[in-house]
Amino acid sequence: MSDERRRISALGLNPDLEHLQLPASTLCWWCGDAATTEEHRIKASTLRRVARLDDGTHAPRNVYKKSSDYAGPLRSLNKGTQVRWRKNLCGDCNSSKSQPFDRSHDAFETFLVDHINVLSSWEHLDWQLVYGADWQEQSRNLARYFGKQLGCMLASHQLRVPTELIQFLDGSDRCPSVSFMLCINPRAIALHERMLADGDEHGLSGFVGLLDSSAYQTDGIFTGIDYGYHIGYLWFVARWRAGSDISSWFEYQVIDLPRLSSEETPN
Ligand SMILES: [Zn+2]
Repeated sequence: MSDERRRISALGLNPDLEHLQLPASTLCWWCGDAATTEEHRIKASTLRRVARLDDGTHAPRNVYKKSSDYAGPLRSLNKGTQVRWRKNLCGDCNSSKSQPFDRSHDAFETFLVDHINVLSSWEHLDWQLVYGADWQEQSRNLARYFGKQLGCMLASHQLRVPTELIQFLDGSDRCPSVSFMLCINPRAIALHERMLADGDEHGLSGFVGLLDSSAYQTDGIFTGIDYGYHIGYLWFVARWRAGSDISSWFEYQVIDLPRLSSEETPN
């Protein structure tokens, strides 16, 4: 099936997607209630960390965002299409139901920022170092955090959210058709080390962002999507491929940290 799967385009508002899109909806893609809230594309706590000045205050102008449709300092950390997905979740799904996911994300981000100068040389990651004895459920909830992001991205583009992904967010142990992977970008490590050498003690830990996404179709049917996000040189990747069964980072206590090849590495 993968041989026949065709990459359509990097996601943006692209006419190539039109035949795959659903009618506009005002409902929560997760539970079907009325959608009343907009999820952050990048967590508000992450944006505050990145925007924090030495005096403890934070300012959006300290956050430089670069994506396919925007390049420049942010005007707001809380509002607008540059920091939020469209209104496509209900209040319950966007707060109490997903709070465990947020907590696992925040714990991982703290670990990453604390270890940003050493993790670049690691070939493997032992989840127990990050989460302790509870590593399995917490690494799964980290995947659910990015699964929710993937759902919001799909719904924002009026694309179908896979049922399996919703079942995973609802508590299924696995989401076979979505592979959650961590990867290291070697070129970003070089930049991180140059920044440290130049006296910037935070290095690349303040560089966060979404990677370009691609959608895939098979015989005119929507069958795949790539979602990617990075903190510094570490990439969080979620790939949905309809009908496949792929392993994910929460299925092993110790996982590989593969290096991206130069073809996959954007500038
Ligand atoms: Zn909901």
